[in-house]
Amino acid sequence: MTPMRPDKKGAHRASYEKNRKKIFATQNVCAICGKMVDFSLKSPDPMSATVDHIIPVAKNGHPSDISNLQLAHWTCNRQKSDKIFRNKEEKPQVLGNRNLPQSMDWKTYTG
Ligand SMILES: [Zn+2]
Repeated sequence: MTPMRPDKKGAHRASYEKNRKKIFATQNVCAICGKMVDFSLKSPDPMSATVDHIIPVAKNGHPSDISNLQLAHWTCNRQKSDKIFRNKEEKPQVLGNRNLPQSMDWKTYTG
C-alpha cells in the first residue's frame, strides 16, 4: 500500500460525500444486520443511517471508494468497529502467532 499523501485528503472527502449521498439514495437496508434503515432517524439515534467502511480506513481500506462503502445503522457500524479494534487490543500478537511463509528467493535457490 502506498501511504496517502496529505493533498489527497480533500479529494477523498469530496468523493466520500458524493458516494455517501449515492448510498443513501440507492440503499435502504443495513449491510451489517440486514434490517431496514429508517432515514427519518437522526444522528444521536443508534438506529440512524450511517455509511460504514467495509474495510476500515485504519486497516488500509479505501477511504472514499464506493466499493468500500455500505449503508449501516449507526449502532451496527459502531459495534463492528468496536469488535475490530477490541480484538486488535486483546490479541496484539495475532499476526505473530501465524507463521507466514517466507518468500523464496528463486534466483539463489539451488535445491
Ligand atoms: Zn443494522
